[in-house]
Amino acid sequence: MRGVRPAALATVGRVNDDTGDLSPATLAVTAGRPARTPGAPLNPPVTTTSTYVGVPAGSDGPGPVYARWSNDTWVAFEEALGALEGGRSLVFASGMAAISAAFALAPLGSRVVVPDHPDSGTTGLTAAQRASGHLEVVEATIRDTDAVVAALGEGDGAAALLWVETPTNPMLEVADLPALVAAAHARGALVVLDNTFSTPLGLRPLDHGADVVVHSVTKYLAGHSDLVLGATVTRDDDLHARLLAHRTMHGGIAGSFETWLALRGLRTLAVRVERSAASAAELARRLSGHPAVVRVRHPSLPDDPGHARAAAQMASFGSVVAVEVAGGADGAERVAAAVRVWTHATSLGGVESTLERRRRHAAESPDVPENLLRLSVGIEDVEDLWTDLDRALRTLL
Ligand SMILES: *Cc1c(COP(=O)(O)O)cnc(C)c1O
Repeated sequence: MRGVRPAALATVGRVNDDTGDLSPATLAVTAGRPARTPGAPLNPPVTTTSTYVGVPAGSDGPGPVYARWSNDTWVAFEEALGALEGGRSLVFASGMAAISAAFALAPLGSRVVVPDHPDSGTTGLTAAQRASGHLEVVEATIRDTDAVVAALGEGDGAAALLWVETPTNPMLEVADLPALVAAAHARGALVVLDNTFSTPLGLRPLDHGADVVVHSVTKYLAGHSDLVLGATVTRDDDLHARLLAHRTMHGGIAGSFETWLALRGLRTLAVRVERSAASAAELARRLSGHPAVVRVRHPSLPDDPGHARAAAQMASFGSVVAVEVAGGADGAERVAAAVRVWTHATSLGGVESTLERRRRHAAESPDVPENLLRLSVGIEDVEDLWTDLDRALRTLL
């Protein structure tokens, strides 16, 4: 990680430069701190400014100039996320701002291959790009490697970019990441992976050869359902420069308060996701035998179609569970209305458990079953979560 920071932004120090063999759980705590000089604060400040005092000509480096270009609170967060993913990070105003910047890496009019039911925000964006003629958007079922490879095409018309979500939101389909990266790179296509669900503690896409990682920081990284933020991470200096130029020119920049709060949330990422993933696996196991449940999707389940792949490429099966309940859309709505500890709400990745019938949104893919509830498992006591869910489900019997 030595030397990854642009010199102009290098006003936030590192704990030390020998972070290479620290575990992710440690890096989440230690990375992006001010330099350990006597009297220094432990945490970076919230830098609230629109501009910076000019640096005299001939002095060492241009220094920061204007706050749409750089902000030290961003740099602190970017150092921490960059250390976790193993690349250079950029923070954006939202997950969608980061996703828009990543799609802009594909040349105008080029073919991009996307999952047939990714996050609904991504679907909305690609639909708009298709309608405007900006991109040729081709959909493929991401767990079906042959279908994705066919969609990538061959020769001059081959795709310029492959968009991967794994596991997908909310169907929890697992992609064969090594196979997809190899096929895309053989055609010269960039691989961008939305790592929101897994977090860098569950999956390290850059280690698998992905070119760019995007995050909705809103979810697990910030972890407290109190802000909206996004990020990109890459190891490629040219891609980093292009993403930075997009952020600066399109202006989708993060607020420094939100960024500071996200960094504070990131400090506890390991304990939050370890606990919520363990509870998610336990709830998935119990739900599989529930009389009011038709189907459970979670890669931890030995009979889940994505289990073997997830076990091979991920360090954790994640904290989102999808449950199809008896009684169709109406049954799912009744469960959502009956829970007391869980909250019926969209979004995911907070300390508090939420659930939602995804098809209540017109923007959700028709591939998603009407009776599917997406569960975002939080850090409450798992027995309280189970008792509440079981009671709500039993109203269907
Ligand atoms: C929430 C989400 C997004 C969109 O991010 P925002 O922060 O809401 O802009 C993109 N991808 C996934 C997987 C998400 O869960």
